[in-house]
Amino acid sequence: GSTIGILGGGQLGRMMANAGSAMGYRFIALDPTPDAPCGQVSEQIIAAYDDREAARELAKRSDVITYEFENVDAEVAAMLMAESYVPQGSDLLYTTQHRLREKQAIEAAGVRVAPYSEIRSVDELREAVGRFGTPCVLKTAMGGYDGKGQWVIRSEGEIVEAYETLSRAGVQLVLEQFIRFDKELSVIAARSPQGEIKAFPPAENIHVDNILHLSIVPARIGEDVQREAERLAMRIAEGLGVVGLIAVELFVTADGELFVNELAPRPHNSGHYTMEACRTSQFEQHVRAVCNLPLGDTALMSPVVMVNVLGQHVEPLLALMARQDESAERLNVAPKVHLYGKKEAVFKRKMGHVNVLAPTTDAALEWIQETNIWKV
Ligand code: ATP
Ligand code: MG
Ligand code: MG
Repeated sequence: GSTIGILGGGQLGRMMANAGSAMGYRFIALDPTPDAPCGQVSEQIIAAYDDREAARELAKRSDVITYEFENVDAEVAAMLMAESYVPQGSDLLYTTQHRLREKQAIEAAGVRVAPYSEIRSVDELREAVGRFGTPCVLKTAMGGYDGKGQWVIRSEGEIVEAYETLSRAGVQLVLEQFIRFDKELSVIAARSPQGEIKAFPPAENIHVDNILHLSIVPARIGEDVQREAERLAMRIAEGLGVVGLIAVELFVTADGELFVNELAPRPHNSGHYTMEACRTSQFEQHVRAVCNLPLGDTALMSPVVMVNVLGQHVEPLLALMARQDESAERLNVAPKVHLYGKKEAVFKRKMGHVNVLAPTTDAALEWIQETNIWKV
């Protein structure tokens, strides 16, 4: 029985611990929030992520260390590597913490990203906007999520305000050409320390207010594009020497061209569908990879739509769960509810998700419509 230490104790850690506990591993999470989602199903050290003493204790009590978010402090990562076994290493974190480094690594692996330019001054921004045309997207190089830390520049008149607003954070900026995508996809690939690589089927992702709303699998794109997306994700896993999971977000244009948007070196919200719909879940796969076990079969067993449960959806979802769901019966769908044990159902906060297993993704989408839960 080995113990796996997780830096971070949110829902990703919780689902990782649930999957790994079934395989006989013990878990200990480091997270500042008492009774964090992961702490409810594992042991927890309550301390800040960059608390050296707490990190040293985590290292002492763990045989293997992983993380559930990418903004791990570089010094903490180095310390953990010295005191314990961190199969994912720190290079992958260093690369994916910064959009410019990440894009360069993706290109070095032979995969396309949206044309981009490093921005160090308002003059450079003006010049780059001239080159890319409007709209284009200005992003902070570090720390952004859920669309925070970016600005879609729709006209030259916005250049100064966009620059001043985003550069206030003191971090580097990147300008990207706006990709008029037809669909957004993500592919999660896993790589073991021995170099075995497997990809999960691509998810078609739909965002609302920059927060993931739906992941539809199989994605409604041609099989050739699906295979190509998987191939690109595996090439990135290989090129970056990934260990564990790498989530690859992609844009697909109307003529089937693929551009990588960004990466996440961890389980991803758009991979939650794998929990019931694939022969191996992303969480089991991650545990397998970091524990140097052979990777599991990623085959899809059923069409599925994952729908996120935000704070405002919790109450109506609980009410639905408490009654006979005639819509589910009629449509022959099986909605699998996952709630993360978070106390306060704050508006827009991720509280859980539902994996709607169905004969077709259309049937799953129809059930989501009919519940009337996801109207806001
Ligand atoms: P996440 O929560 O996924 O980490 P994030 O804040 O890191 O989000 P991105 O994924 O870079 O942000 O962008 C958020 C969304 O904005 C994308 O999913 C996409 O819909 C849109 N977007 C970002 N960059 C571009 C682009 N270059 N062209 C067109 N749309 C874009
Ligand atoms: Mg991101
Ligand atoms: Mg993103």
